[in-house]
Amino acid sequence: MKWIGAHVSASGGVENAPLNAVEIGATAFALFTKNQRQWVAKPLTAESIEAFNKNCEKHDLSPKHILPHDSYLINLGHPEAEKLEKSRSAFLDELQRCEQLGLQLLNFHPGSHLKQVSESECLATIAESINIALEQTKGVTAVIENTAGQGSNLGFRFDHLAEIIDGVDDKSRVGVCIDTCHTFAGGYDLRTPETCETTFAEFEKIVGFEYLRGMHLNDSKKGLGTRVDRHHSLGKGELGLEVFRYIMKDARFDDIPMILETIDDTIWAEEIKLLRSFEL
Ligand SMILES: [Zn+2]
Ligand SMILES: [Zn+2]
Repeated sequence: MKWIGAHVSASGGVENAPLNAVEIGATAFALFTKNQRQWVAKPLTAESIEAFNKNCEKHDLSPKHILPHDSYLINLGHPEAEKLEKSRSAFLDELQRCEQLGLQLLNFHPGSHLKQVSESECLATIAESINIALEQTKGVTAVIENTAGQGSNLGFRFDHLAEIIDGVDDKSRVGVCIDTCHTFAGGYDLRTPETCETTFAEFEKIVGFEYLRGMHLNDSKKGLGTRVDRHHSLGKGELGLEVFRYIMKDARFDDIPMILETIDDTIWAEEIKLLRSFEL
């Protein structure tokens, strides 16, 4: 079975996110548990946590299908010690917020080398950052998202994801989230059933579907291999609809949150319906 939703707003409190998900007919959702553009946030209140859990339960939204996303400021591969430290403590705070909410996953972008260190050095730093955070928390899995490879962002090759996983001590608490727009902009074609077959076979060979904890379903404004991260509504970009048809019919994508981060939130309900129609 497929669990489909979008990255919904948590404005006014995290407890509003499940309600916003229900409104668009979602059975999964993503959210920020704090303002994603600020380093520090007030702790979650007991009332907010309770209301979040109540709203999720009431609408059958299971923690297994909720994919919180961390702050864009965090760089777990930062080449400078002081800034790396700041990112690591912010990441720990994000994981702890998930713990408090009873959530099981935290989705994040791996990190950037900022042209100051080699790719492999940066990937090792990211793995170490994950180890440090996992040691201090329980029950939450670190979900590495593949990227479009914009600037010096790593994670645009499946090998990058595999190399990070390789450096993580507790393999039971590390996973990946595959973003269709990032995959395509990062250089893997997904425009036809045949190219989907090849790309996901490569993913299976290098990373493995056993690590797949979530998907981001986005079309792309930019072309194959451009390494530019610009999302588009489903079927309106360079990717087209075939990849979404392919994913919805493939059992390897069952039981994980599949999240829209498409640019027009007024048509999310329609996009969810469209995806469900592909399932049949
Ligand atoms: Zn994404
Ligand atoms: Zn993106």
